[in-house]
Amino acid sequence: MPSLDPVADIKDRLPVEQLLGNYLTLRRAGVNFKALCPFHNEKTPSFMVSPERRTWHCFGCAKGGDIFSFVMEMEGLDFREALELLAKKAGVELPKFEPRDKERASRSARLFAANEAAVKFFEEQLRAATPEAAHARAELARRKLDDLTRDLFHVGFAPAAWDALTVALTKQGFTENELAAAGLAVRRPPPKHGVYDRFRNRLTFPLVDVVGRVVGFSARALDPNETMGKYINSPETEVYRKGRFLFALNHAKGEIRKRGFAILVEGQMDAVSSHRVGVTNVVATSGTALTPEHLSLLHRYTSNLVLAFDVDMAGANATKRGIDLAIASGFNVKVAKLPPGVDPDDLCRERPKEWGRAINESEAIVAYYLRQSSANRDLTQVEHKKAVARAVLPEVARLQDPVEQAHYLQKLGHLLGVDEVVLRRALDRARPRAASTGAPAAPAETPASATAPVDPFKKRLARLVAVGVRSTVTEEDVAPLRAIESPSVASVRAVLERCAAGPATEAATVLSGLDDDMRALVDRELFTLDREREVGDELVGATELRSLVTLVAREVLRRELTDLHRKAAYATGDAAHVLQQQFVAKTAALTALEATVEAQAAS
Ligand code: ZN
Repeated sequence: MPSLDPVADIKDRLPVEQLLGNYLTLRRAGVNFKALCPFHNEKTPSFMVSPERRTWHCFGCAKGGDIFSFVMEMEGLDFREALELLAKKAGVELPKFEPRDKERASRSARLFAANEAAVKFFEEQLRAATPEAAHARAELARRKLDDLTRDLFHVGFAPAAWDALTVALTKQGFTENELAAAGLAVRRPPPKHGVYDRFRNRLTFPLVDVVGRVVGFSARALDPNETMGKYINSPETEVYRKGRFLFALNHAKGEIRKRGFAILVEGQMDAVSSHRVGVTNVVATSGTALTPEHLSLLHRYTSNLVLAFDVDMAGANATKRGIDLAIASGFNVKVAKLPPGVDPDDLCRERPKEWGRAINESEAIVAYYLRQSSANRDLTQVEHKKAVARAVLPEVARLQDPVEQAHYLQKLGHLLGVDEVVLRRALDRARPRAASTGAPAAPAETPASATAPVDPFKKRLARLVAVGVRSTVTEEDVAPLRAIESPSVASVRAVLERCAAGPATEAATVLSGLDDDMRALVDRELFTLDREREVGDELVGATELRSLVTLVAREVLRRELTDLHRKAAYATGDAAHVLQQQFVAKTAALTALEATVEAQAAS
């Protein structure tokens, strides 16, 4: 039976602390839990989780919400995708879904389905009893790709024919247009009609996104004389953007979190081989340079990168820009110690132990630049000294940590036999300007809130509710609010009256009746309150409650009086009389309140 209220059912079955606990290390903090925020860089936890309200909030980056918002943020999903993922986890059956943008959703779904069908087809072809399939299997064996790895990555074989896949998939109901849109087939140039297979006589590696959908393929040539290139990748399609895709992240993400760093390789084969030998926190950029989207994807899991490819330090190239971008976005970047001219795939195949060592002995990027630039140079010659300084100083300047900076200046000075003071002066000139590198500023420890500024009155109301929930409320405390007609104050009063009526009911129940905006504000205030003080500090709570009630009442009364005054200025006859009476009544109420405020201030 499909659930009538899947969101509520899922929340019932998946406690927030349990779900978030799969991603983060949660520590008890009173009635809440806290953790290091996965969405911004921090060293002291400002990420709070409330089991009682089933919500979370980060004081550092102002993000917050429920389990759905967490998964959306963490896995890069939209709401529907998060719903599907969590429904599956919770064992809740979803009602049939009618997407608003039906056409687009179903088009993407068709492309995913076509890619999925292609995976099956290519896998079958690899198992086929044909000489060419045998040749493909022999190639896999030569590359030491065992069955387990082959199955894990769904490696397949695209036969040498022009239309093998097209024929098979059109039989399954896919149109030529769909195959072309998925990048699986290529349109014949006019005046010819129809399409032909993009991948022919190649080993195929499906490109699977972080939630397990097939977005495209990378295909490796089997024929060493292949003229089309060693690798052919899917073109960018509606479901595949190479600048946002990291190969093997779906398999690597858990281990990246666990080990605290991600290893970045260039080719899919490097990643596959590394997973085969048991080093599984590896992802591949698939031949493109690191983009900001790659980095923000990685930032969800770690802020430590080990690069295991040829890091060319010649200024302008794309690799170097990607590295600079990573450093500027707050990543700690290291470089694996690969033997010269050997890629990770070779190493995993021939000397798997050395692959592990290359990772363990990886060195900080500046140390790497320092070593690389000074290799094969005669450092007694001034021209060579200048060349090394020119190469390394901008990298030292890029470092965020002054201690680290001093460390490398010292090293460089020692190496070149140049006084540090001189180098420091040169360093100031080498300091890269953000504008010239195009890199974004590093995320601050506490980034500015991305949300719109909150109306201070609403914030005060939210605080009042939070204090009410966390302290003992009496009928008397709420009394000053009864004179007020504003609907937002009335809903707050209702919450406080529920608090006064009985011993603490569940926060979620007490808060019903507030609109969603107010709920979010109250949630945040509750987290703030819990951080500020020990729960159960009744005395402080009661005092603050009373003072907030009077402040809120006074503010509303003052606004109402101003309003009445404006209206009265133009009113005549009976209307003027009524307004006048209201004016008198509200003035009296305000005077009484002012007296209360004074008395409270004095006590
Ligand atoms: Zn945060």
